[in-house]
Amino acid sequence: MALPFISTPGPITAVSTLLQSTLRAEKEQWLSTEGLAARRRIRLQQVLLRASETRYYGAALRAAGVTDPASFEPHELERLPFVDRRVIAQHGLEAFLSVERAGLIDVMTSGSTGTPGHFLRHKLEEADYSARWWRVYSAYGCSAWDTQINVAIADKPDRAGPITFLRRIGMLPRVERLASDAPPEEVLQRVRDLSPPILTGYAGAIEALAEHVLKTGTQVRPPRAVFCTAMEVTDRCLELAEEAFHAPAVDVYVTNEFGVVAWSCPSRRSVLHVNDDAFVVEVVAQDGTPVPPGTLGELVVTSLGLTSMPLIRYRMGDMAARLPQACECGRGLGLLTRVHGRTTHAIRRPSGALITTPLITSLFGRAQAHTWVRRFQVREEPGRHLRFLLDARQPPSEVQRHTLTEIVESSVGHDFKIAIEIVDHIPMAPNGKLQFVVPLPRSEQEAA
Ligand SMILES: [Zn+2]
Repeated sequence: MALPFISTPGPITAVSTLLQSTLRAEKEQWLSTEGLAARRRIRLQQVLLRASETRYYGAALRAAGVTDPASFEPHELERLPFVDRRVIAQHGLEAFLSVERAGLIDVMTSGSTGTPGHFLRHKLEEADYSARWWRVYSAYGCSAWDTQINVAIADKPDRAGPITFLRRIGMLPRVERLASDAPPEEVLQRVRDLSPPILTGYAGAIEALAEHVLKTGTQVRPPRAVFCTAMEVTDRCLELAEEAFHAPAVDVYVTNEFGVVAWSCPSRRSVLHVNDDAFVVEVVAQDGTPVPPGTLGELVVTSLGLTSMPLIRYRMGDMAARLPQACECGRGLGLLTRVHGRTTHAIRRPSGALITTPLITSLFGRAQAHTWVRRFQVREEPGRHLRFLLDARQPPSEVQRHTLTEIVESSVGHDFKIAIEIVDHIPMAPNGKLQFVVPLPRSEQEAA
């Protein structure tokens, strides 16, 4: 995946890079596990070679005793330190660059998890991001020529990659961007006007839209698929989207840093395929040691495509487990459970076990609370209190409320005092996303 480095690529170079990346992404998903491992090894060596030219990784490689990045083996990654937004901010962006900063694209991420992120990449590296989105679209029968509606952040500036260029000159249809907090009736009107084959957006916004469709009984021409992104995608969101739009709902684990990391297999949408050709994805315990397949841990990602600002052993703060088996669909890409939200969006029990969004949604499922709960948020408060804020569709009956309380108590009541409160509104975070589980800030956790 080493990209030819030309400081100001013309549109033709950019578009041909995009085409090459797309064809390669299409083909490589079908390689065997061994074939993919062989490519990962070579790509990792190329990335490390470039990374050794940067101040930060140059020092890290020397400290780890790596003298020849060209003969580096993937299992040796464990010798290198983890990085995260905080480490990058501490050392400064320049310490991570292998090329001149001028001409690189700025990628900023929200600070919903603490430190906001700031990353740089080259226009040609952007092509690889698009290629991985197209891999997902094409697995669900969509093409580059399909109109799409994206319900996320409406005023997000277009990145200056080749896709943007093709859209600007009219060779690809425009993406209609709508704000995730726009009223569902407005979004629905645009969906009805455009009948987009691709409907994509933040899971919370898609869920609200799907609910609105079902509540109003509106008939919508089914898109080819509904792609749910950008935060914890709950079972509830996927079920509602399928029911409302009569189309498969796809869980896409995509981040600003890396683009699409993993996505629902079309044959078995409860599991995700990892883009093993583009990343080394490790799953580690809290102390940083690797966990075996099937065990939940934190995702640590190394990009095999980013060389202008390499990202090696980057701690995502998100949790999932690798699944050992091969997939029946025939893709060689490895399997991952659905992503269990961020480590910073989990409440820790005294035993260290985590309370995450999937646990809470499963409790709500057992209590059949989705019939009356529209949205929820669980907030940890000092003194081992958990407040369940519920935005109710309709006031619950005594029995409904009692059933939910009992099931919640049986699961987390040993560790926390529970309060269940009906509220009028649960606000989205400033980044347009809804955080389901809000732990105490770390400083207060230690004091508590
Ligand atoms: Zn599969």
